[in-house]
Amino acid sequence: MIVVMKPGATPQQIEHIKGEIERLGLRNHVIVGTERTVIAALGEKRDGAKQALETGEGVEKVVPILAPYKMASTEVKRDRTVVTSLGLSVGGKKIGVIAGPCSVESKQQILEIAHMVKEAGAGGLRGGAFKPRTSPYSFQGLKETGLQLLALAREETGLAIVTEVMAPEHVPMVAEHADILQVGARNMQNYPLLEAAGESGLPILLKRGPSATMEEFLLAAEYILKTGNTNVMLCERGIRTFEDHTRFTLPLATVEYLHQTTHLPIVVDPSHGTGKASLVSRMAVASVAAGADGLIIEVHPNPEKAMSDGFQALTPPVFRQMMADCRRVAAAVDRDL
Ligand code: PEP
Ligand code: MN
Repeated sequence: MIVVMKPGATPQQIEHIKGEIERLGLRNHVIVGTERTVIAALGEKRDGAKQALETGEGVEKVVPILAPYKMASTEVKRDRTVVTSLGLSVGGKKIGVIAGPCSVESKQQILEIAHMVKEAGAGGLRGGAFKPRTSPYSFQGLKETGLQLLALAREETGLAIVTEVMAPEHVPMVAEHADILQVGARNMQNYPLLEAAGESGLPILLKRGPSATMEEFLLAAEYILKTGNTNVMLCERGIRTFEDHTRFTLPLATVEYLHQTTHLPIVVDPSHGTGKASLVSRMAVASVAAGADGLIIEVHPNPEKAMSDGFQALTPPVFRQMMADCRRVAAAVDRDL
């Protein structure tokens, strides 16, 4: 339920309603708007709760939240969430670009890419240190050394570091070095990980599971929001279909659908979404046209030598051209990049 307070409701009246919500065995989540405050009462439905809250002083009305994802829903919060970290902003007029290699491979590699993507206009640097690989025999990432190299790249460039965390027990270590925690597609429904990542207090980039429905995706985000961490970005990175000309199928309708259902910002990953370097730039441009709030792009100075996902990595010149193309389309849809 959402308790909509009257404009001008006093802090005491708001505190009283919060107490009543707790007394009913529900959790409260206060959203202060420009005109009025609304308080979401979350938890199992309680008989008589609506009537009890409706009689509170300063209360205008009590309305049920119809969506199963309560805190992610536009029913609870209409204004869009903007996630910021250092110079990266995702969800406002400016489209945030996170770019970098699939994996951190060496000091020279990550620093070279960091400087290049920064010059091209990215606000965030991606790079996996803990890599979820399909085969246990593939490169698994540089782990803590990789995190230290990412932190060094932030020192040199000021870029916000985005890197994946794969296990709840790794959250403190990854959070010590990173600015934004990525929860990967394979872990979208790893609920203890979602909670641990949420509790770090850092912004979270949550990737859609390759077989997850929109409802499952939003309910996964809800696990993070429920920890009190509201800085969640949703990332469409392609889904599994019968089609095999691309690594995954990239559904861009997701962007508009999610904008209609949630206030959280939407990032598109055309690198994993297509799995082919030759398709990435055009899909990045299309994502901007579709209203994406952010892009996450794999870039490598020498894709042939990359230790993971080289086949979908853009070279620096192609990345620079992609940025220029995206900028032109961003201007056409009244955004900056
Ligand atoms: C990645 O970002 O390199 C990655 C492994 O992504 P996903 O979880 O979307 O497969
Ligand atoms: Mn990758």
